[in-house]
Amino acid sequence: MSSNAPKGGPRTRIVVTIGPACDSAAQIHQLIEAGAGVLRLNMSHGSLETHQKTVATIRQVESECGVPIAIMADLPGPKIRLAGAVPERVETGAEVTIVGPDELISNAHPDALSIDVRGVLSAVKVGHRILIDDGNIRLLVIAIEGAGDQTRVRGVVTSGGGLRARNGVNVPDSDPDLPAVTDRDLELAHAMTKAGVDFLAVSFCRDGDDLRRLRSKVIDDIDPDGIPPGIVAKVERPAAVANLTDVVAASDAVLVARGDLGVEMDIAEVPVVQKRIVSAAVSAGRPVIVATQMLQSMIEAASPTRAEATDVANAILDGTDALMLSGETAIGRHPPLAVEMLQRIAVSTEAWMDEREAPELTARTLVEIADPWMPAIARGACRIAADLGAVAVLAWSRDEHTACLLSRERFKVPIIMFTDDVRLARRMRLLRGVWPVVTSTITTRAEFLRTAAAIAVADGVARIGEACVFVHGSGRNSERPTDAIGVLRIGDESERLS
Ligand code: PGA
Ligand code: MN
Repeated sequence: MSSNAPKGGPRTRIVVTIGPACDSAAQIHQLIEAGAGVLRLNMSHGSLETHQKTVATIRQVESECGVPIAIMADLPGPKIRLAGAVPERVETGAEVTIVGPDELISNAHPDALSIDVRGVLSAVKVGHRILIDDGNIRLLVIAIEGAGDQTRVRGVVTSGGGLRARNGVNVPDSDPDLPAVTDRDLELAHAMTKAGVDFLAVSFCRDGDDLRRLRSKVIDDIDPDGIPPGIVAKVERPAAVANLTDVVAASDAVLVARGDLGVEMDIAEVPVVQKRIVSAAVSAGRPVIVATQMLQSMIEAASPTRAEATDVANAILDGTDALMLSGETAIGRHPPLAVEMLQRIAVSTEAWMDEREAPELTARTLVEIADPWMPAIARGACRIAADLGAVAVLAWSRDEHTACLLSRERFKVPIIMFTDDVRLARRMRLLRGVWPVVTSTITTRAEFLRTAAAIAVADGVARIGEACVFVHGSGRNSERPTDAIGVLRIGDESERLS
């Protein structure tokens, strides 16, 4: 088993959405080779059976590649969509009636639309906006008829254009009371947890309770000795931004969902909100992903726009752990090229960051941490590594906080995490600068140092005579929380005693 730590490879992590353009075993293999560590299944599209098959394909390819790969099942949440047949276009200035699912309009009617979620239209008031297709089509509400599920909303089209069946709909002014986890989401969450996914992403969460509720429901799907999937909070609603501290605390990872965020909020605020979310997640020790339109033009083109390349670099400079590709890989023409492009931008951006002083992280607000010593050990390891010019951090742990907190220090050198639990190793694929390695069970510190040094040398991360910092938990099998820290000169490991 290797750490897969490529010499010169970037520390920024890559999440790739699997879709029709890249879902064969050979294509998934290529994406992993190109640098993808987390594969996202978008449950808004495709059948449950197809996604279950993709999980099996990914596990097959993972074992061929010999590196842990995380799978993220992204639940649709209460996404509102046009229902039934839709007119081809609506023209600017036209008046349109919108009805709920109980009054589905069966034939495309030139001036009527229906939406597929109950309880939305009753929250809409005169003067509110209704946005279709990510805001490309815009309506202003001028009258309301009826009430409850029979509410009909009359709007004037302020920006017209073409429509397609199942276009997304946003009501940014209305704040309907929609729970983030729908009955359908729960069904999908149970099935995908049983299929062994590593993360469940909660779309349109409002607060920490939305996440805690899902966590408590999937816990029974796990074997007694298993670990439940990590819960990813997709921040894409103003309520989640308002409750950011609670959302971050209740999550295992955070996703800046710029697509819906850019419609639900003023798009001019999205760049700054991205910075706030990244900083809140990093300071709390939660991995964070920046998503949507990172390399949008590469759905068609073989290279990105200058603005996209710069946006990717700026997300890395903001301090994100991971970057996500959506349509670029799921339905794009060049999925592996898009992954390679992220890798290349990350390499040059990180090199520039490394030339500068290490950024002082903002106040740390770590929450719900099992082991209060770990943050101090992580900070100490970072300081020692910098002072000694160490080439790597070698960590041995059975506890994922160790990996999260080491990653949070944003070392300039790779953190190689040794664990005997492949499920923990997979989860670590989201963490900036962390290369997880699955080993057979190690029982003593001497054995850990020998194994770790051999792998660091084999992967070209360290050479004889170079220094590494190591951390682990004392006791047999590193079973105590991480409480030991030390330095190792490569070549000396066989002389170290347990
Ligand atoms: P989606 O989420 O692609 O599932 O909509 C991401 C976003 O909204 O940015
Ligand atoms: Mn979204």
